[in-house]
Amino acid sequence: MTVTQWSGRPWLVHGFGLAGFGLEDLSKDPLLSSFRSVVMKQLHSARVFLLDKYPENRLAGDGLVTASAGLLLIIKTADCLPVFLVDPENRVVAAVHCGWRSTLQKILVSACGLMRDKSGSRPENLLAALGPCIEQKCYEVGPEVLEGFSAAGFDTGRIFTPALNKDRFYLDLRGANRLLLADEIGLRPENIYELGACTFCSEDLYSYRRDRQTERRLVNFIGIKEPG
Ligand SMILES: [Zn+2]
Repeated sequence: MTVTQWSGRPWLVHGFGLAGFGLEDLSKDPLLSSFRSVVMKQLHSARVFLLDKYPENRLAGDGLVTASAGLLLIIKTADCLPVFLVDPENRVVAAVHCGWRSTLQKILVSACGLMRDKSGSRPENLLAALGPCIEQKCYEVGPEVLEGFSAAGFDTGRIFTPALNKDRFYLDLRGANRLLLADEIGLRPENIYELGACTFCSEDLYSYRRDRQTERRLVNFIGIKEPG
């Protein structure tokens, strides 16, 4: 899946992978075969790395930023939300893994801060794409999650609704990250694109909660093409 509004940018490649699309398929794609894939050990943290070349060691964190062509930033998901950020003015891209823990720690604030400090990216120029994730009606969580978001300063009334089960809530993970982008970081709402697909509901996507499968992950990627 791609953002149709981004198709007119020939320097940019990106995609939210479907079930059955693996890391090995990236090198088979003629558009992507010249890229080197950067895959992190994902931690559900707020750690974001700025890359100016292919990293020598495996990075452990949940966000990658680069202005260098030829690197393919990878985020693997199964219910968590993958987010891409693009600064078209300075040609900088980011890929961020937003599970509830990273969302609570405001990893997108960290990513946009890094883009601003290191590349001069201005929030009002940034584009964001929020990919498939487990959607609110399917995402029941316990009271500790709501309490965590409340303590972190989120307006919980806008991202949680009571579940049928007592003391349980439905979390709008995509909505929580949209709030961060629009209200806290300062992206223009019209520059935030959302792919409305639920990993739990769609057989074309992997869901950790549905599949009870710890290994299968969707592969999401973004990168800058080498010129010429
Ligand atoms: Zn669903």
